[in-house]
Amino acid sequence: MLPQLLILAPLPEFLRVPLSENFICHDYVSSADPEGLIQEVGPRVQAIIQNGGTQAPVSLLEKLPSLEIITVNGVGYDGVPVGYCKGRGIRITNTPDVLTDDVADIATALVLMTSRALSAAQRFLLDGGWESAASPLTSALNHKTAGIVGLGRIGKAIAQRLEACGMRIAYTGRKQQEGVAYRFHSTLEALAAASDFLIIACPGGPETHHLIDSEILTQLGPEGTLINISRGSVVDEAALIRALKKGQIKGAGLDVFENEPHVPQELRDLPNAILLPHVGSATIETRQAMADLCLRNLDAHFSGQNLITPVY
Ligand code: NAP
Repeated sequence: MLPQLLILAPLPEFLRVPLSENFICHDYVSSADPEGLIQEVGPRVQAIIQNGGTQAPVSLLEKLPSLEIITVNGVGYDGVPVGYCKGRGIRITNTPDVLTDDVADIATALVLMTSRALSAAQRFLLDGGWESAASPLTSALNHKTAGIVGLGRIGKAIAQRLEACGMRIAYTGRKQQEGVAYRFHSTLEALAAASDFLIIACPGGPETHHLIDSEILTQLGPEGTLINISRGSVVDEAALIRALKKGQIKGAGLDVFENEPHVPQELRDLPNAILLPHVGSATIETRQAMADLCLRNLDAHFSGQNLITPVY
């Protein structure tokens, strides 16, 4: 008898097909009647698959008494109530490492797009502005400081790339890391004040909710740019919009938003914000590697082997 799997998020074909061959799949995300679906199959569901940003609320998990494992198709698992799952012995897996380089590339792209105003430069050319004038001058990266909030796998990969652009690297986190030569600031305020680019690469969730607020943006200052590739929840978006409008910071480069896929019109209208639709890991190669890791974790669990990438 195949195990029963609840699909909580839209998944690519190359993940859906092998899942459908190895599990009895129940599609919660595209069901016309998700409540009815849970009433019918909830007691039999043994596994959940979801994306990084997907919420798996306790109120839902309580209706799944046979649940054994939640496989997150992403590295961030802030949508999963970890304490509750631990209490019930529900395993959690995610997809660390395989997406690190792609996400770091997008952070680097956002730094370059904001500092060198690349979107505006392309628009200038397409609109014919170059026929009569030179594109406006922009800002160099060399000798500027990139302050990284959360120097983990992705944060370190961003640091490597920006060092290659001649930038100085500093960071903050819950503690100073041994064997890391980058300058550590024990407070976010101090890092923001020392940074030309404040780059957010820590996890989402309650602990980091609105870590970046108006006070931190004031510390970053009128020559500073905020880059966020972590989770929209980490930044107080209303405070960010106010700071961008008033010129309290210079610009922002964002791959993630508080209420995805909805991006406030006020933010879209700002010329000093570069906005991307959460494409950090969105390459064919990486999404395939993430899918493979989800499948290997599920396979390991249901064949009694050690999980490949358990969260705990
Ligand atoms: P990771 O290796 O666990 O790194 C996270 C870092 O954040 C750690 O170095 C940790 O350092 C730090 N941290 C944790 N809590 C913190 C806090 N309260 N304040 C400041 N720093 C804190 O994770 P990763 O693989 O680099 O991924 C990071 C995040 O990127 C994910 O959680 C996910 O939300 C996001 N992400 C986004 C995309 C995208 O498409 N845009 C794709 C993948 C991942 P300390 O323990 O020293 O504090």
